[in-house]
Amino acid sequence: MKHLLIIGAGGVSRVATVKSAMTMAKGEAFSKITLASRTKSKCDEIAAFIKERVGVDIATAVIDADDTAAVADLIKEIKADLLLNLALPYQDLTLMDACLKAGIPYIDTANYEHPDTAHFEYKEQWARHDKFKDAGLMALLGSGFDPGVTNVFCAYAKQNLFDEITEIDILDCNAGDHGYPFATNFNPEINLREVSAKGRYYENGKWIETEPLSEHFSWDYPKVGERESYLMYHEELESLVKNIPSLKRIRFFMTFGESYLRHMKCLENVGMLRIDEVLHNGVKIVPIQFLKTLLPDPATLGARTKGRTNIGCVISGTKDGKPRKVYIYNVCQHEDCYAETGAQAVSYTTGVPAMIGAKLVAKGIWTGKGVFNMEEFEAKPFMDELNANGLPWEMIEMPC
Ligand code: NDP
Repeated sequence: MKHLLIIGAGGVSRVATVKSAMTMAKGEAFSKITLASRTKSKCDEIAAFIKERVGVDIATAVIDADDTAAVADLIKEIKADLLLNLALPYQDLTLMDACLKAGIPYIDTANYEHPDTAHFEYKEQWARHDKFKDAGLMALLGSGFDPGVTNVFCAYAKQNLFDEITEIDILDCNAGDHGYPFATNFNPEINLREVSAKGRYYENGKWIETEPLSEHFSWDYPKVGERESYLMYHEELESLVKNIPSLKRIRFFMTFGESYLRHMKCLENVGMLRIDEVLHNGVKIVPIQFLKTLLPDPATLGARTKGRTNIGCVISGTKDGKPRKVYIYNVCQHEDCYAETGAQAVSYTTGVPAMIGAKLVAKGIWTGKGVFNMEEFEAKPFMDELNANGLPWEMIEMPC
């Protein structure tokens, strides 16, 4: 039984902390949970929610996740056994280094992004592989939904359904409606940097770049219906190309509503998505950070959001010499997520897999020395945990 330290107290953390507390209440995996973030009052609010709903006490603390030494000191002081990073991608490297310094495993849900460049890749996290290996520690990268569950769906297909996988399309649909003309379902800065970036996909050994949201098609999402889906670059493409070498093509598509796209284009055109500093009335501001201050806090969307998400993978290849195509997906209902955890489905679909990743590491079911992506482990235990923890998956055979 392990002492879990969770860093960050936003929407994703709320779900992961509630679910970890439920796991602890069942006498599984965790003996203690500490929730630490920049704003302690947010940790205390989540702790009070957990006490009322789950009947479990969790500890809270204040921490600056950009300060490696302070995080390492906190880990040692409270004697944490593993760290779940649910702050922002900017903190990945400082938190990985804090885990190395204090000698505990590390888990996150999003790959490192430098605050000054809207670019994300695994290079700097993978570069820490030898340090984790030499320390006999494990770092698990991307234990959210996408990345995370999507990687696990691909691993499950590779390990159980195919002799060879040649094509993967990851399809992410959020058909939830929060009633605002414009809001983002997770951290606005991270979300808008990602969506306004150029698209990229992998085909026949090459990466092909596309203009932002220029390629799209309509896909019929089970239990949701037809939605326009836009090609984007997404971080799991990088690790899946590395770990499934037989792949000829992999792409990622996400749905957006008309209103979202219109507002985003307008904000981009007037410079509100800029990530560099501008002088405003003698004060330096970063426009996208100012925009974040104006937009609804994603953590407050839960109570207003209605509808479903459907995220899954269409996987093609061969089995026993014959072509095969399967669609593995999860459908999640915003209202159910809110009723259970006080957060909407985008936070829920990320926070539940974050807890599962931490649980499998805590129980030694997923174990290793070094830095790993989700698809490098046996998928079945994770798939079973999804079914048991509110994210059941379904699979359909598709015509080839
Ligand atoms: P939020 O912005 O709601 O929460 C982030 C939390 O981190 C806030 O509580 C914030 O503090 C805290 N934080 C930020 N900087 C620091 C710091 N320097 N020190 C301490 N705490 C800090 O984000 P979300 O909950 O929406 O997302 C959390 C993570 O999940 C992100 O990394 C995001 O990219 C990832 N994600 C992954 C997905 C996946 O499927 N893999 C999908 C969606 C999100 P404060 O409250 O004071 O601002």
